[in-house]
Amino acid sequence: MNFFQIRYDLKVYVTRCKLLVVGGGSGGCTIAAKFTKRLKKDSVIVLEPSSKHYYQPLFTLVGAGVKPVSSTCRSEKSVLPAAAKWIQDSAQCIDAENCRVTTANGDVINYEYIVIAVGLNNDYSKVPGLSEALKDENSGVSTIFDAAYCEKTWRDMQRFKGGNAIFTYPNSPLKCPGAPQKIAYLADSYFTKVNYKTVLKQLDHTKREAVFYCTQDTSKELTMPYGMLHVAPPMCTPDFLRNSPGIVDAAGFLTVDKFTLQHEKYNNMYGIGDCTNTPNSKTAAAIAKQSYVLEHNLMQTMKKDQPTEQYNGYGACPLVTSYNTCIIAEFLYDGVPRETFPINQARESIMAYYMKRDLFPFLYWHFMLKGNYNGPEFVRRIINPFA
Ligand SMILES: Cc1cc2nc3c(=O)[nH]c(=O)nc-3n(C[C@H](O)[C@H](O)[C@H](O)COP(=O)(O)OP(=O)(O)OC[C@H]3O[C@@H](n4cnc5c(N)ncnc54)[C@H](O)[C@@H]3O)c2cc1C
Repeated sequence: MNFFQIRYDLKVYVTRCKLLVVGGGSGGCTIAAKFTKRLKKDSVIVLEPSSKHYYQPLFTLVGAGVKPVSSTCRSEKSVLPAAAKWIQDSAQCIDAENCRVTTANGDVINYEYIVIAVGLNNDYSKVPGLSEALKDENSGVSTIFDAAYCEKTWRDMQRFKGGNAIFTYPNSPLKCPGAPQKIAYLADSYFTKVNYKTVLKQLDHTKREAVFYCTQDTSKELTMPYGMLHVAPPMCTPDFLRNSPGIVDAAGFLTVDKFTLQHEKYNNMYGIGDCTNTPNSKTAAAIAKQSYVLEHNLMQTMKKDQPTEQYNGYGACPLVTSYNTCIIAEFLYDGVPRETFPINQARESIMAYYMKRDLFPFLYWHFMLKGNYNGPEFVRRIINPFA
């Protein structure tokens, strides 16, 4: 069934489609590209509010002054497949029983199948003082987890005159858990101490003081002055998803089977990327592998068969350790290593740095978002067949 749209009254549109993809980020674009090739024209709708698409893994190098943020951004239109219909609006409510999504504008999209790919939001409100500090150019506070502030990290690094350079790690699931470390390594010369047992509670940027609590005993607090503060903010799934009863867990993550990626309750619903409850490292690399599994399993579901492909938890994290070295960590569920190359990947290498800086963005824009990259498994089979 192709999509069609009717004018329901003067304001509300009702649309119908075979496949609705909610979110047009890394996961949503990749899945839309795959299914526009598989299904008849006009079968796929992508619901995505933003007109810009960012390649977020490069934010780390933006924060280190290696790339400008503009190099990470393309227009959403240019990355979505031409055969998909893009509705520039956001989901406000999912009625999974009736296969219906209501958008923020009040329009209604009826679907046969749905893929949820809405990622994670930064939740600045969890740290009092953080929003204000980020907006203040002279606060010394920045984050590479936001396109609006990752260039500020570089400006703060250049302005740093000594004292504590603090790099925080949140007490919530986050995208790319290695990123807070990477930016700390890159700011190595400014770096004084990492303490993962404390979590940023609040900050007063006018005094340049940050308050941390101890994870083992939350009543214990530590106030530290800082010259520079890089924040990996608490993150959460978008409000509409957290508030959609019956499809998320207590923390607001979409409950899918960790192997098939099919929703635990609704067979016609799948999830991909950062917003699902699969216990893998939340990375674009994971999405490449997940997209392959999801494509096959959703096709089987459409044929009324059981999904058989299994996601093994693959994720990868290029840990940038300096301005020309990097370690490419690759792993499956439970942290089981899964290396692509027949070399010791735990060693820092110059080649890995240039892969992170130049090769991976190329693969992302030209292959993954076009639905033609499912991760490095095919490379591993050729060059590292006995691993
Ligand atoms: C600093 C940093 C460094 C990283 N480094 C790496 C790395 O080295 N390697 C790696 O593999 N990964 C890395 N990542 C992680 C990677 O970028 C993410 O895991 C990936 O982009 C997640 O894709 P996604 O589709 O789940 O979410 P996103 O790409 O974030 O897309 C979610 C989309 O959903 C849309 N959306 C939100 N709410 C709604 C709504 N209500 N209705 C409709 N649409 C909505 C958003 O506008 C967005 O476009 C890094 C991320 C960051 C921030």
